[in-house]
Amino acid sequence: MPDRTTHIQELKDLVACFVQERNWNRFHSSKNLSMSIAIEAAELMELFQWADSSDLDEIPVDRVREELSDVIIYCLSMANALEIDITDAVRAKVRSNAQKYPIDRYKGKYK
Ligand SMILES: [Mg+2]
Repeated sequence: MPDRTTHIQELKDLVACFVQERNWNRFHSSKNLSMSIAIEAAELMELFQWADSSDLDEIPVDRVREELSDVIIYCLSMANALEIDITDAVRAKVRSNAQKYPIDRYKGKYK
């Protein structure tokens, strides 16, 4: 099912079921999950490590998809472990960022 018709809770449940079936909950401390998110993010970055702008089209999208999925899966696991509602959390953070970076001051600027 595509993103357009899938609820975040379905993905959280999918990941929770995978973890539960393997009795891995006991390994899912905040420390381990936060480190796993960073490690998988590093694996994603590794794909681009020595690429310059002319090489970017040669990076295999299937490998990017895999590593991006690893990051997201650990994020979902952390949300499950800490009972964080992702929708509420992301909406609150975007609201906070919108106040921190008002459009009239930051549009087209990153500093
Ligand atoms: Mg990986």
